[in-house]
Order: sequence, then C-alpha cells, then structure tokens
Amino acid sequence: MTGPARSVPTDIPFGPADVPWQKAFSGLRTLDGTPTVTPPSSDPRETYDDVPGIPYAGFQLPACALTEEQYTEAESLLRAHLQRQCRNSVGFQLNGDLDYQHRLAPYLDLPVNNAGDPYRTGSVTHNTKILERAVLDYFASLWNARWPHRDDDPESYWGYTLTMGASEGNLYALWNAREYLSGSPLLHPTPTPTPGPSAPGTARNTLAAAHREQGSDSFHPVVLFSADTHYSVTKATRLLGLDTMRSLGERRFPGENPLGRGTPWPAAVPSAGGADGKGDGDGDGDGDGTIDVDRLAVIVRFFAARGFPVIVNLNYGSAFKGAYDDVASAARMVHDICAEHGLDERHVDHGRPGPTDVRTGYWVHVDGALGAGYAPYLQMAHQAGLVAAAPPLFDFRLPQIHSITTSGHKWMGTPWPCGVYMTRTRLQMLPPAESEYIGSADTTFGGSRNGFSPLVMWDHLARRSYDDQIRAAVECDRLARYAHDRLRDLQAESGRDLWVARSPFSLAVRFRRPSTLIVTRYSLSCETTRVAGLVRPYAHLYAMPHVTRDLIDALIRDLAAPGAFSPDSANT
Ligand SMILES: *Cc1c(COP(=O)(O)O)cnc(C)c1O
Repeated sequence: MTGPARSVPTDIPFGPADVPWQKAFSGLRTLDGTPTVTPPSSDPRETYDDVPGIPYAGFQLPACALTEEQYTEAESLLRAHLQRQCRNSVGFQLNGDLDYQHRLAPYLDLPVNNAGDPYRTGSVTHNTKILERAVLDYFASLWNARWPHRDDDPESYWGYTLTMGASEGNLYALWNAREYLSGSPLLHPTPTPTPGPSAPGTARNTLAAAHREQGSDSFHPVVLFSADTHYSVTKATRLLGLDTMRSLGERRFPGENPLGRGTPWPAAVPSAGGADGKGDGDGDGDGDGTIDVDRLAVIVRFFAARGFPVIVNLNYGSAFKGAYDDVASAARMVHDICAEHGLDERHVDHGRPGPTDVRTGYWVHVDGALGAGYAPYLQMAHQAGLVAAAPPLFDFRLPQIHSITTSGHKWMGTPWPCGVYMTRTRLQMLPPAESEYIGSADTTFGGSRNGFSPLVMWDHLARRSYDDQIRAAVECDRLARYAHDRLRDLQAESGRDLWVARSPFSLAVRFRRPSTLIVTRYSLSCETTRVAGLVRPYAHLYAMPHVTRDLIDALIRDLAAPGAFSPDSANT
C-alpha cells in the first residue's frame, strides 16, 4: 500500500485486445495525453469472480469501444452461456419457457414509460397503461377483487405493475400498511358512519392526530412474519424503519416473550412443526414451512392487548419450501384478536377538516410471489376434478386481506423481474404530492416505471386461455410429484438420508445439498437449516413449466454418481 497519491499501474491488459486501459483513448478524450476519467487501480480481471467459459477480457469496455468482431464474439459467448444455464436451470421458481422475441422485438426500440398512476394517462403518452390496466383487471378477477378500479368505488381494487418483482410489492405493502396504521391521510377518505366522531361511546377507538404527534403506541405498528419468510420482507421492514416483534419486544418488553418466558424474543414467528426449540425462529426446522397460526395468535394478542397495531405478512408459496400459509385461518384470527382489543374499527382523526375515517388496526399482506400466480389455476383444476386437492383460499374474498403481490417472472415467465401489487381503493394513501410534472397522481414507488413489463405480461395472458393455464398448473404439480418420487427412489437406493421432502402442493422439492459442480450446473438454490440443533445444508429444485422429466432424470443421474454429495464441496 502506498500513500494517498499512489500511482496506478499503466500496463494492465484490458478489453478483448489486451490493450492497457490508458492506451485506448484518442486525442479527443485526453488532456495533454492523459485520460480525463479514472483508470483502474488494479486488474479487474483478477478482482472479480470467474464465470466458467466466458472470460471477462472479452466484455471489458475500452474507451475506443469494441469493434464489430469483438462485439460479435463477446455476445455469442454470452448468449451460448445463458442459453445453456437457462436450459439446465431447475433451482429457482422462474419460468424459463419464454417466447416473446418474434412479436415483441420492435418494442425494444421504443422508449415506453409508464410513469405515474396506471389509471391516469399522464403526460408521457408513449406508455402501455392500456395494457397495464388489462393485466391488473385480469389479476383482480383472478384474485376475486371488485373490478374495474374506480376512484369512486372504495371497495374496488387498486394496483400497479411493478418495475421490480415481488420484493417491490412487499415493500409497497409494508409502506402502505405503515402509513395506514400510523394515521396518515387516505387518498379517498371514507366518512365515519353514525355515531359521529364526537358521539359518546366511540372515544376508545377515536384516534386524534395529537396522539400521533405524541408518539402514541396506537400509531406504532409492529411487523409479524414467519421464519420461512423471504428476505425482502425483512429488508423492507428495515428500510421503512418498522419494528419487528424482536426489536419492539427487546426494547419495550424485555424478558416478556410470550412464546417462552425468559427466552429471547425471536426475529420471526415460528413455522409449524419446524422450530428447533431454541425459539430463535430463524428458519430452523424441518416442518412444512407454513406459519404456526397458534403461535402467531399468541404474538398478535400480546401486542394488540398493549394497543399496538399489527402488520402480518403471510406467505402463499414460501420461497424455499414453497409452503402455503393457511391465509384464511390466520387472517380471521388476526381480525378476531384485534377486534377484542379495539383494533378492528378505528376512527382516525387525521387533523384535517372534514370527517374522521374508519380503519382497521391491522394489515394483512399476502406474499404470493409464485403462489398467487399459480395456485388459483390449481384450485380451478381441483374444482374440475383434475387434481385431488389444492392450496387454501388466500385472495380478496377474505375481507381481512389488505394487499397481495405476485412476481411476473415466476409463474408467467418474463425476461426480467416484474410483478403485480394489488390492494383495495379505500386503503390507498394520499401520495406525498400530486406531480404536475408527469400529469398523474404519484401513487407508485417509481418515477419512471417499466412499460415493457405490462406488454410482456399482457402477451402471456392474451395467448393463454384459463384452460391452458389450468393444464399448465396440473402439469407442474405432476412434475413436482415426479421429481419427489425420483429423489425418494435415489434416497432408497443410496441408503443415505437425503432429507428429501415436498411441502403440500409445493412446486419445490428439497434435498441434501450436492456438490458445487451440480449446484452450478443446475442453478440449484441452497439454504442452510438447523434441525434439532444440527446444521443441514439443503438445496431445492422447482418444477416450473420449462422443466422436463428428462431434465429431472439428468439431475438424478448426476446425483447418483460417486461424490455427488461429498461433504467438502457442500459448504462453499
Ligand atoms: C421470489 C420471492 C420474493 C421476491 O420476489 P422477486 O420477484 O424476486 O422480487 C418474495 N417472496 C417470495 C415468497 C418469493 O418466492
């Protein structure tokens, strides 16, 4: 290490032609022969992870740009690599069965932008909001919300298509929940029905704006989620400065964890049959991955009894095990316990002229990244007698549900992350400001929003009937069962416990983590779990529409080979 004025190496080979970075500048872009932009301080090729088969040199970007031949060589290497990896990918809940390029390629040269609210045209007229609304109406119907969206119908749905995936949906849901429960103004205030806000008897539930300023617990939500919850929920909680049961418990109620007096507050609500008894709730155990509704009830009761509003995240297809929480029972329980403590109907006086509004003191969000896109079709298949059983109810038919999100790239299959967020119009918050600049209410997170994603989702839905979707869902369900059977056969033949398991209706099958070679070849997703105090490195596969029995068979053959589960390679 030299001092602050250390010299940078000038002989690092760079770019496809191995020409040092400094030498690729023309006179136009240098000052006295020295480039005006910053050189590398060490060799990037040696700094970053290798991608087997595609050397970084061919992709580095020199000041003189790539020649046509260099570009072509790099691009064909990349394409072959991605095509191979996508073909063999069985580890994620991503649908790789895509077929868009022939119809949609022309749109790549149009700067489509869906800035602002989907239901206002806005001043960026080159948008695909007309398709966005069609996609949202489709999901509103699929999820049994009241549609179309109408500003003047508080019971109708409102939603938007996400520029990120369900991570953005979860973030938006928790933001919406935080604002709603902490008494911020609604976009469409619903006047209080009789008795009026000043009538006697409503005092207990009337929350004055003054309380909010005093930091009253009545405006202080706590987020509850299970140990099997996706990391985006924890991240959103932190981004939004929300309290979890652990942070609020440790700060305000040390030693009072109602799940075990004297034990530390867990970060998450335990999953059913899955806790290792330590009560740390960190995803431990080999249960099916659904939230333990009874223990959730204990936690909801603890905070509701102390006046705190609760935000409950439920998983409809958890990320690793693909588990379906019993959304209906959990949501009803949350409502009933909250009602006992005056958290069902709260009259919020938000400090502005006009009537107070009535709100729940809880918010139930459904993270349906894969499941909310897939399970409705499996439910229809069940109704048609095509499958023996289907996941439980989760959608807007349940009056206690506030929001649902799904990813577009999971069940439907899109070339990039996208998704849908949906809530009820009466739950929408007043945006910080009406944006005159975009000529549209600023109801979404993004400024610019991806306008290509609604086109891709619309294309997917426009080309498939419900019958097609139902058949595809049944196929995937069968394929997951096939993979589960083959893995259990392998387990029996190997005489070794490979921890093979499939949660009910899940498209994921989990098993002992194999060697890194196999993990990379099939893009397997891995997670470490503790069962009865022992560390278990798991991998899983997902039976998505592009996965074939041949691909499962190839994976099984690799898993049957000697050294496939060698322990040294299993922990890297
Ligand atoms: C994939 C997933 C997410 C995150 O979705 P992205 O679309 O990747 O942002 C959230 N929750 C669950 C249960 C998931 O499976």
